[in-house]
Amino acid sequence: MNNIEEIKSRIDIVDLISETVKLRRAGKNYTGFCPFHSNTRTPAFVVFPDSGTWRCFGECNEGGDIFRFIMKKEGWDFPETLRYLANKAGIILEPLTPKKKEENAYEEKLSGILEEALIFFRHHLMQNEKGKSVLAYLTDKRKLSLKTIETFELGFAPDGWEDGWTYFQNKGYSEKELVDCGLITKRSEKEGFYDRFRNRIIFPIRDANQRMCGFGARALSSEDNPKYLNSPQTLLFDKSALLYGLDKTRKPIRTVDQAIIVEGYFDVIGLYQSGFQNAVSPMGTALTPIQMRLLKRYTRKIILALDPDSAGEKATLKGLEVARDSMDHSDDFIFDPKGLIRTEARLDADIRVCSLPDGKDPDEIALENPETWKMILEQAKPIITHVIDTLSAGKNLDDPKTKSEIASKVVPLIKDVPNAVERDAYRQQLARVLHIDEQSLFSISEVQYISRGRSRRQKIEKESDDEFIKDQLEMQLLPIKNKIYNLEKHLVLLLFKKPEMVYDLDRYLKKNSLFPLSNSDVESGDLQVVLTLILKSLQQVDLDGEEFISNNLPDDLHWLESELEQVVHEGTTQDRILEDLARTLLMLRKIRVNEKIKNLTILQQPENEEKIVSDNALFQNELMDAIKTRLLLEKAQSSPLIGD
Ligand SMILES: [Zn+2]
Repeated sequence: MNNIEEIKSRIDIVDLISETVKLRRAGKNYTGFCPFHSNTRTPAFVVFPDSGTWRCFGECNEGGDIFRFIMKKEGWDFPETLRYLANKAGIILEPLTPKKKEENAYEEKLSGILEEALIFFRHHLMQNEKGKSVLAYLTDKRKLSLKTIETFELGFAPDGWEDGWTYFQNKGYSEKELVDCGLITKRSEKEGFYDRFRNRIIFPIRDANQRMCGFGARALSSEDNPKYLNSPQTLLFDKSALLYGLDKTRKPIRTVDQAIIVEGYFDVIGLYQSGFQNAVSPMGTALTPIQMRLLKRYTRKIILALDPDSAGEKATLKGLEVARDSMDHSDDFIFDPKGLIRTEARLDADIRVCSLPDGKDPDEIALENPETWKMILEQAKPIITHVIDTLSAGKNLDDPKTKSEIASKVVPLIKDVPNAVERDAYRQQLARVLHIDEQSLFSISEVQYISRGRSRRQKIEKESDDEFIKDQLEMQLLPIKNKIYNLEKHLVLLLFKKPEMVYDLDRYLKKNSLFPLSNSDVESGDLQVVLTLILKSLQQVDLDGEEFISNNLPDDLHWLESELEQVVHEGTTQDRILEDLARTLLMLRKIRVNEKIKNLTILQQPENEEKIVSDNALFQNELMDAIKTRLLLEKAQSSPLIGD
């Protein structure tokens, strides 16, 4: 048994989840209110002790094992979660490889040097003569309290060329270490080094776990360019993977279930001081997919409060050009209005844009009057509304050409919205703005599709009873827990060996009107990590796929490699592998969809005392979708896999 299996066998999922969620027994399973979305009416969260899994049938529509639960709850990555659960289970993890250990130790050392540098910068702000005027700038001009300055650990880099370098050499750090953590830069014209940050206000940048990663620095003199300078890319500092402020705001973000995205350091700090402790900044770049994923751990409600220039018309129009097909193979986020809507569709995320009064920054507004800022947030528009407004602003909407141009851009976005009620509202809105009849905005085929869907509804409801009994029997016969894990493992091992087969698999799925392979097909936390790597390996060209995955595999998952040779033998044809992949995935999805249908049916039964009244429609839709999916799966299973 490897560590992961050992942990799963030792920790009881009901005990573990009971620490967070009040669970009630419902037959063999347990139900409760989902801890990941706010709803105190519908106990849509179900724990299945038999399979060692959980699932939210409400808003989240997500599930997994104990690893997934802790990762989602704490916002940790896999190794962190593993350490935590191993400790809980009383298991001592095998030591890291010597190379990895060395790397970790070096990163720790660099982070320690940055902590020392921070003391140096803070000393210069608080104790030195020049620092006093900077401090006055922060308190008088920026209206920051000493407490806030303390909380955000602001500092000042003196304006000498070698103050820092000399100081750190005396501390015993080598030039290499100082370069590696981005504090000094090699001179190009002569020997020696100079300080990267000179005569600047210093903002320490920590990751979500409070580890020091680098600095942001604002120029004090208008002659110094650029105005904002960051640490260079280092082992610790990867601008695309950090959000400024998250170390302090992640808890409030989760508590208020909302994150505000602002442009700059001062915006985060000023809002924090004014009582809005849920802002983060992507530090001058557009939001990256990694940053979006970081945020997603804490909330799905995001308000963009960006400078009108960057979130405004130009960016909106440019974003609309991005091809929608580019997202087919990944769950990645792309930051442009178009991409955000796709994200919204996938995640059920609520993304809004607020408009700032011309020439004013969020911190200025909030520090002057928190009520004004609150109002601005409340008036934030859903992103589709924002796109409609932006595209139609200043245009002659009586011109048929303009109308059709705008419609051709917005209609596809509206079609992506998952919620039918919202979709209708956006349609009406667009029709109103363009002064056209709503029906003529949308294609005939789609209207037909909708009416067909409605007439099928009753038939599907009738079907579900028989299916329920059949499924119950099926479930009792299967050692389901092992079966799911083994299917997931088989799938992951096949793709580990042949990552590029993802494309063939997706093509096959598409042919059968099924969703492409995604992370949610594998719900065991450990195996999901590998699937993520497999999908990532396809987006790089430096290494052979298998090698890339192997190199990036967390230490505790290397045991998987020893099983690789058993799944794909020398000389196995591509067709056979595809067949194996498809069969495994279909089986996995079938088990899952059956489980879903069964549980949705239970949740709707009148004798269930926690009967869902208000969200019945939601469950009905879910059930219809699930039954539809099952039909497609069965059809695919019964038709020949390869050929024709
Ligand atoms: Zn939920």
